[in-house]
Amino acid sequence: MTETPPPRRARAEIDLRALRANVRTLRARVAPHVRIMAVVKADAYGHGAVRCARAALEAGADWLGTATPHEALALRAAGITDVPVMCWLWTPGDPWDQGIEAGLDMSVSGMWALEEVVGAAKAVGKTARIQLKADTGLGRNGCQPADWPELVGAALKAEVDGLVKVTGLWSHLACADEPHHPSIAAQLDVFRSLLDHAEQAGVRPEVRHIANSPATLTLPEAHFDLVRPGIAIYGVSPSPELGTSAELGLRPVMSLKASVALVKHVPAGHGVSYGHHYVTGADTTLGLVPLGYADGVPRHASGRGPVLVGDTVRTVAGRVAMDQFVVDLGGDTPEPGTEAVLFGPGDRGEPTAEDWAVAADTIAYEIVTRIGARVPRVYLDE
Ligand SMILES: *Cc1c(COP(=O)(O)O)cnc(C)c1O
Repeated sequence: MTETPPPRRARAEIDLRALRANVRTLRARVAPHVRIMAVVKADAYGHGAVRCARAALEAGADWLGTATPHEALALRAAGITDVPVMCWLWTPGDPWDQGIEAGLDMSVSGMWALEEVVGAAKAVGKTARIQLKADTGLGRNGCQPADWPELVGAALKAEVDGLVKVTGLWSHLACADEPHHPSIAAQLDVFRSLLDHAEQAGVRPEVRHIANSPATLTLPEAHFDLVRPGIAIYGVSPSPELGTSAELGLRPVMSLKASVALVKHVPAGHGVSYGHHYVTGADTTLGLVPLGYADGVPRHASGRGPVLVGDTVRTVAGRVAMDQFVVDLGGDTPEPGTEAVLFGPGDRGEPTAEDWAVAADTIAYEIVTRIGARVPRVYLDE
């Protein structure tokens, strides 16, 4: 059997040196006692969960965080057994028993979840590590303040019975990426009062936490015992309002590259791609880039997305198709196989994921997390 060589078409380079540097940068921005939970949900925002988790731990992260229990269990299965791993998005019927066996910190936002985890603890015969989540104003997951005393009381009762240990009290911010938004102070006030209530009732949490990347970068008063950065670890700015990644001292980890698959001369007046939304204004050359919306290149960036080909930033001409799109090369004739860089750190004049977010009218989180499974990840400095 001969092995199929790696595809030449496209690749997402993942610079683990940059990821480690970003973790160290965040480490330096929080007080020494504050622990760092590297958030590696959604396959580490498309970067590869296990490798990124390992690199973050090497650089000083203390905890790992995922959304689903399956993501957290996969980290354990990959041999990451000696650090706390938390997961927060549970659905009825999820494998609490496996979470207990794997020593996960499991978030509980309501009575149904407490009942399921207590049932699993009885069945397994071990104590479950749970973290109670408060909805301090986000209006998404988490326990409403009015229901908090009931949840805390029931958790304490299960703790007395040896079925659970409440290891954390936590919440999530709605508008941390909008500096001075009035909801920030309001949420912190609610969080502090819910912490007071739980601690007066007898909860002794190891960690209290509410800060995502923007709060880690801009709100020291929100750091408490632990911060939960995700996007910042991958070197991407949480929002243009907070500055570019370079301004924040972060280095983008992912570069999305393709090999130009065809270069050809076309006459003036030639329609390009589905719908002919682009028509050549003069005799010109077109370059075919073999990446499309099935690979995560947003169709919303049709006619707008920037791409570095050679030394020049070109623009997507016409619609992004499922597997490919076209750029107008203005008469230049790079060799087929020439590298096309959709985004990267920006050092060589290439666009960034933040630029693509503007072009597609979305956030840079969505740009990196949507890069599809058909694009191989190539790890640098592993
Ligand atoms: C995704 C997520 C984070 C990380 O958010 P970033 O903005 O990427 O830093 C932190 N906490 C929770 C609960 C999350 O869902």
